[in-house]
Amino acid sequence: MEPGTLVYDPRTRKVGEYRGMAGPCAMLRPVGGGREWQADPALIRAATAEERLSAGARAANGRSRDGVLTTPPLVDAGPPPEPVPGCATCAGLAERRAHARAAGDGSAETDADVLLARHRRREHRDRRVLRFVPFAIVQDPSALPEYQAQCVSGDDADCGATSGPRAAPGDVEEWQRRHTQETRHTRYRRCFADYAVLECRA
Ligand SMILES: [Zn+2]
Ligand SMILES: [Zn+2]
Repeated sequence: MEPGTLVYDPRTRKVGEYRGMAGPCAMLRPVGGGREWQADPALIRAATAEERLSAGARAANGRSRDGVLTTPPLVDAGPPPEPVPGCATCAGLAERRAHARAAGDGSAETDADVLLARHRRREHRDRRVLRFVPFAIVQDPSALPEYQAQCVSGDDADCGATSGPRAAPGDVEEWQRRHTQETRHTRYRRCFADYAVLECRA
């Protein structure tokens, strides 16, 4: 199996990214980053398209556990996102949501909403409006969210080395791995930032 393959682990009922073998165990990492876990290589299998989408949506919605640095959940003020006419990806996600709704699967319906909102934001430059009356807080589409880690190892004073702002949590983890290799420092403070604009709705 290739490292990076998304697999389903029936023991934890989670989808993870296959990283490689560690002795007799397969090492899996949560989608979107986080602490690796050990799985039985005889039990895991390649994740289905449905499972991959669902895991991606969960990571995007910040619902994964294990202290993962993902986008925090945002509360939509408006109605569920609508597909943009003429876009095949939008149509596919809207159909997926319709199926979930018809099947009474609320969690799959939410997943489809999250994926559609994210797709609209990325591909159609949609601005998500968050509830905050009488103003609306709008995520600034001209500035990407930032992820950052700072080394807080050290006896008397913190080391203070920082990754600087990065566009993705994976980049920050890569920096942490390198810094730990170089210095044997193991404790970090991590934070997430995005830019928001207040707009008067009155
Ligand atoms: Zn679209
Ligand atoms: Zn350090």
